[in-house]
Amino acid sequence: MIGCNCEVCRSLDYRDKRFRTAAHIQVDGQSFVIDTGPDFRQQMLRENITHLDAVIFTHAHRDHTAGLDDVRSYNFLQKMDMPVYGTQPVLNQLRTEYAYAFAKVVYPGIPRIQLNEISDETFMINGVNITPLPVKHMNLPVLGYRINNFCYITDANYIPDETLEKMKGTEVLVLNALQKEKHVSHFNIEEAIEQVEKIKPARTYFTHISHRLGLHADISSELPDGIKLAYDGLQVEVGTKDEVRGTR
Ligand SMILES: [Zn+2]
Ligand SMILES: [Zn+2]
Ligand SMILES: [Zn+2]
Repeated sequence: MIGCNCEVCRSLDYRDKRFRTAAHIQVDGQSFVIDTGPDFRQQMLRENITHLDAVIFTHAHRDHTAGLDDVRSYNFLQKMDMPVYGTQPVLNQLRTEYAYAFAKVVYPGIPRIQLNEISDETFMINGVNITPLPVKHMNLPVLGYRINNFCYITDANYIPDETLEKMKGTEVLVLNALQKEKHVSHFNIEEAIEQVEKIKPARTYFTHISHRLGLHADISSELPDGIKLAYDGLQVEVGTKDEVRGTR
């Protein structure tokens, strides 16, 4: 947090450095990101992501969308517009936030974005099936996503039964757990653990963690078996039980 001097913000442990929440997915030769927050550029540089096939959005809060301008690097490298997927309200928000990118007169160097509207139904990007997982973020509809046996839900404090049904049998779950205290729009750690007990994945990683949750090392030792805190740069392999140490 800007201006904060708490022990988490001052920690030298790389696992306590928390950029805005996002995920990079590699599947069947494809390279996708879920969300492009304000730290998108730094994340892509850090992880050396040299190719990106699509961007998939969960919702239109700025901590998940503010980095979209930087897809222009991929426009230059790949000589194509960037396919972007989101629900109608999300795409409308992008048209407003990035009005210059959708202007009739194209200014050189602007990001080239190709919008694709999705619903709650499973959709396909270049042969990869992606199943939206509708959840609620206070009263805002948000989509998590299931890709094979990987489920990713950020920014939720309610998962409806129909969505829990769609998550059955998943091997890996990534779920938001903001802090210990109750919060109006995010699961706290206790509520997140309750969801994990319903979903029963083999492995769970908590994400969208606030500095108020505490130090990675302290909280990790309190979590039930099978649940870990994610951290910036963590790499997880699905189908092999492997967790690869991040690049930091
Ligand atoms: Zn702090
Ligand atoms: Zn949000
Ligand atoms: Zn968020």
